[in-house]
Amino acid sequence: MDISNILSTLEAKHPGEPEYIQAVREVLISIEDVYNQHPEFEKAKIIERIVEPDRIFTFKVPWVDDRGGVQVNLGFRVQFNNAIGPYKGGLRFHPSVNLSIMKFLGFEQTFKNALTTLPMGGAKGGSDFNCKGKSDAEIMRFCQAFMLELWRNIGPDTDVPAGDIGVGAREIGYLYGMYKKLARENTGAFTGKGLEFGGSLIRPEATGFGGLYFVKEMLAKKGHTLEGKTVAISGFGNVAWGAALKATELGAKVVTISGPDGYIYDPEGISGNKIDHMLELRYSGEDIVAPYAEAFPNAKFYANKRPWEQIVDIALPCATQNELNEDDAKTLLANNVLCVAEISNMGCTEEAIKLFLNNQILFAPGKAVNAGGVATSGLEMTQNSMHYQWSAEEVDQKLNHIMKSIHEQCVTYGTDASGYVNYVKGANIAGFMKVAKATISQGI
Ligand code: GLU
Repeated sequence: MDISNILSTLEAKHPGEPEYIQAVREVLISIEDVYNQHPEFEKAKIIERIVEPDRIFTFKVPWVDDRGGVQVNLGFRVQFNNAIGPYKGGLRFHPSVNLSIMKFLGFEQTFKNALTTLPMGGAKGGSDFNCKGKSDAEIMRFCQAFMLELWRNIGPDTDVPAGDIGVGAREIGYLYGMYKKLARENTGAFTGKGLEFGGSLIRPEATGFGGLYFVKEMLAKKGHTLEGKTVAISGFGNVAWGAALKATELGAKVVTISGPDGYIYDPEGISGNKIDHMLELRYSGEDIVAPYAEAFPNAKFYANKRPWEQIVDIALPCATQNELNEDDAKTLLANNVLCVAEISNMGCTEEAIKLFLNNQILFAPGKAVNAGGVATSGLEMTQNSMHYQWSAEEVDQKLNHIMKSIHEQCVTYGTDASGYVNYVKGANIAGFMKVAKATISQGI
């Protein structure tokens, strides 16, 4: 496989899409050896077929704000790959959303979903809509307008969206409500729904819970536990919340959370009512964490900084892509970090990952670590099609089992001759093999 040739062809076809190219490069580098050992992949033009999305919908979303003014946003849905099952992946509402970010997320989702053991293909969608400062009525009108454009292209057995940054239970409720009116279909073309209308228990916590189950396995393989470990978390949304809850429950101490304004260091640990407070900040709609330090005087707020400068055992990026760079990685390594696990999608830059792997610390990529969110979405789809609801214990137990299986797949494909587990390689190869085999079996 000539990776630089593949990438330059891709770059020429899709100029100005750096995140997408970054995600493809990472996978190609990991799978190169395995690919070269399987001539059938080359014959079936697997790389060309896997790196391009099946199709992309882009649309405009006109809506009316509270002052009666007309606003226009962009909407996207990238149906990336359905070799394994119906398209599945979240919707992201954030001003940074563009085609490159949608394609990178759809590409990552395809491999992540393959790892979950459940039959789900990969997709992603969203809008450059900024939820910050919008009233509830504006959010509802925007969601309805968005759905008016997208509803024909989704459905419970074709494409099942869910939440992501900026899209939580409230937005899913508005989107799904509009979808049902238009499609006259009620069996759950969305996941992350409210518990009263087909949602699954544990789904809101699942990404964070799953991330910690994965970290637990990583540590166990090296003879460690979470008991007494200090943890730096970035972000303060649903994912960070679930991660903080589970880390605390498993005996660790979470000392940071962060927002766009900076980060909080709380030496006493962010647990109990402090975790609730974190969610209150989120729901205030202000998108800032500084007020936490006012509520808890022993906590310190560091304006415009990131939590990776603190001395911790475990670092868990839980906010957005490329939020931990090479300098942050150097600082963490100098501070003897034990484990870095991306709970956000592509949370670390390529340079940071290279440093972690070269120094052979425990490092795992988002597509393995955060797969618990979409895996529990898969469990929500199963419950919906059975018209049934499992208990929280049943869902949690299945989630734990799935995360263990993802960890095993990474170990199987990622262990090198010295016994070091390269989780990036392991996750990429395991996901790729499944998608490639499914593609070949189904013909051209
Ligand atoms: N947005 C989440 C992810 O990146 C969840 C997607 C889903 O549940 O479909 O995996």
